[in-house]
Amino acid sequence: MTRSISIFGATGSVGLSTLDLVRQHRAAYRVVALTANGNAADLAALAKEFDAEVAVVADEAAYPALKEALAGTNIRAAAGPAALIEAAKMDVDWTMAAIVGCAGLPPTMAAIEAGKTVALANKEALVSAGELMMAAVARSGATLLPVDSEHNAIFQCLAGGKISQVRKITLTASGGPFRTFALDQMRAVTPAQAVAHPNWDMGAKISVDSATMMNKGLELIEAHHLFPIGLNNIDILVHPQSVIHSMVEYHDRSTLAQLGSPDMRIPIASALAWPDRITTNCVPLDLASIGRLDFEAPDLIRFPALKLARTAISEGGAKPAILNAANEIAVAAFLAGQIGFLDIADMVSSTLDGYSPKAPATLDELFSVDADARIYAQTLMEKTAHAA
Ligand code: NDP
Repeated sequence: MTRSISIFGATGSVGLSTLDLVRQHRAAYRVVALTANGNAADLAALAKEFDAEVAVVADEAAYPALKEALAGTNIRAAAGPAALIEAAKMDVDWTMAAIVGCAGLPPTMAAIEAGKTVALANKEALVSAGELMMAAVARSGATLLPVDSEHNAIFQCLAGGKISQVRKITLTASGGPFRTFALDQMRAVTPAQAVAHPNWDMGAKISVDSATMMNKGLELIEAHHLFPIGLNNIDILVHPQSVIHSMVEYHDRSTLAQLGSPDMRIPIASALAWPDRITTNCVPLDLASIGRLDFEAPDLIRFPALKLARTAISEGGAKPAILNAANEIAVAAFLAGQIGFLDIADMVSSTLDGYSPKAPATLDELFSVDADARIYAQTLMEKTAHAA
């Protein structure tokens, strides 16, 4: 049976990895909608290659280029936030949510509210709107398939088990490119160094998040929502080789781990074929040549983002959304050369301290918290940039 699929964020790292798997299994999948932000040329090329029904750019300024690139085809071109939501409601069997940042929240929520099967890579959406998103999943009967390699690993370790039988979850972390750097060295690192992840090939934003370890903080919040066993039962363990993607310890002290080469196509394949399995051409795991697996505790002094994220989700309410919004602003400023690497966590911390709205009860309230936190962080960022 052919599975109909849509991919939000098709031109990004996760989107392209998903399409690479589809390319290997053309007969099994029919592509309905593909989306991008402003990259009309690549989106049009992908839409043509995969014979999509519709291609959507979030940025309306990219619409003329998309329309022109799709002229003479049967592929419908669309643009803007409403078009993204409309695409998310289309009749498909499987939706990949792989837009980067909270910008992915509206279409992801639209797909969830329509009761769809959603493969979730867009962690920022879940971090920001955690309770609201999980409530929508429960209400609509949607299925969330975790794509983040750690959460996908946990999901796989839970096959045949029950969450009520779990004592502890261990999220593994590579430690990023600055795992062994002293604080003074970290102060001077450049965006080019920060995006050069030692194990994974990813988009720029998540690469910087891995370097600050905010990525692991966001994943802690993500895990808390997806696998509700209590925050104190979710640990973080640095494992530089990125071979074990996460572990689940059951009450009987049996620990299950999921292993694989650090290639996002492996967790994506698991979600794409779920509950079945498909073949991939990913590099098989060769433990003999890897030789050893190392582990260490995370350093909360050099990587304060981990503590910020744990505190934000412990306090709850608007805090995770503020953490995420401030981090998005700070990472963009760092990538643009406006602030230093260590300023990222400082800015997030100051935004969390300085802005304390009430807990958002609706999606509109959440969007308003997100927008205000961005303004607050942006103002801080400009002060930090001037002071430097
Ligand atoms: P990329 O930056 O590579 O790609 C982002 C995608 O989102 C692109 O298609 C981009 O379009 C689109 N996009 C960007 N901004 C907007 C916007 N404002 N509105 C609509 N679409 C937008 O990101 P990644 O693929 O690395 O990451 C995607 C998500 O998956 C993130 O949440 C990340 O944390 C998560 N993730 C990524 C992993 C990885 O290995 N890369 C691993 C685990 C999770 P355009 O090309 O036009 O800019």
